[in-house]
Amino acid sequence: MTAAITRESRPRILTGDTPTGSLHLGHWVGSVKRRVSLQDSHDCYFIIANVHAYTTRLQKSAEIKRDTIEIVRDYLAMGIDPERATIFVQSEIPAIAELTFLFAMLIPFNRVMRNPTLKTEIELKGLGDTYSFGFPLYAVGQTADILAFRPTGVPVGEDQVPHLEMTREVARRFNHIFCGVDEHTEDKDHVAQGGVFPVPHADVGEVGRLLGVDGTNKMSKSLGNAIFISDPPKEVEKKVKKIFTGRASATEPGDTKNALFQYVRTFITDKARVAELEDKYTRGDNIGDGHIKLEVAEAINVLLAPMRERRAAFEGRDDLVLEILREGTARANRTAEATLALAKDRMHLISWPRSLG
Ligand code: ATP
Ligand code: MG
Repeated sequence: MTAAITRESRPRILTGDTPTGSLHLGHWVGSVKRRVSLQDSHDCYFIIANVHAYTTRLQKSAEIKRDTIEIVRDYLAMGIDPERATIFVQSEIPAIAELTFLFAMLIPFNRVMRNPTLKTEIELKGLGDTYSFGFPLYAVGQTADILAFRPTGVPVGEDQVPHLEMTREVARRFNHIFCGVDEHTEDKDHVAQGGVFPVPHADVGEVGRLLGVDGTNKMSKSLGNAIFISDPPKEVEKKVKKIFTGRASATEPGDTKNALFQYVRTFITDKARVAELEDKYTRGDNIGDGHIKLEVAEAINVLLAPMRERRAAFEGRDDLVLEILREGTARANRTAEATLALAKDRMHLISWPRSLG
């Protein structure tokens, strides 16, 4: 007799988003599309990292709350199913805050400050040297967001790989210092050797770094260069038209490495048409940027149409969205509490059984 495959017995993944705005096409191709496809084979946890949003939006806390709800609406629109996946809010998981403090002891301060993703964010978001102590701490917090759920994989965009590398280091260090796992143990063998934490791998999506409509930077909620999942068709068209290529005429040979062609390859599903456009563009065979942009906008609108439809059921229904979040958060707390109890035990912290909710 074969045992029923329960959600709990599947390999686990964790990933999530910070409520610094609503979700865009970069989220879809970099991470969410992958999440949707893993819902039946994996035990999926999706975190809305609302505490981390305070690193850059301290003065806009009402917007953080609004965007938290908006992101859940985006998840539901994109096909994340709360019956199959656990969607939860970071600030209501005390185990994450506790693990953040404990993990901060395992990472050298200079190692945190060398993290290239942090450096880029400081530069791009113009934080100068005015950022709070909480800003670099969020990188440590992210290791706790992940490890509290002991996942084996983390579906993310390319920019998150350095963060994940730090998470992997924390897992290895913890397992070595507190669980006696030999330093030379291969990552895949850590749990079998008695480690509390699997060493999770980054599962980078189809397009690890989708460019924004500015044509230069990563599409990002905070940079004003994003096409949002909730944008209406006309807005999509308007934004696609902005993609800068620097090409002067339809007969000028173009470079298909530009942002416009990243969109062509990502969103036009007819591969023969993609090849034809690439060929004509390279040769400058009477093919204008304006025409290509129209085709791209149309393809994006085809992708977004069913999302708009699913979204409609949750429009103006914050009550439904909050209930999904409440149920997911209760489930997430059960998992994170179990991890924290294990970690405290291995660290020889005195603790007593406790339960949440
Ligand atoms: P912010 O500007 O606040 O940093 P963001 O747009 O970068 O917001 P995040 O919440 O930081 O979004 O990222 C959530 C997830 O989406 C991460 O896994 C990240 O790698 C992925 N992601 C974000 N933008 C892109 C993009 N342009 N291309 C591919 N993946 C992306
Ligand atoms: Mg980001």
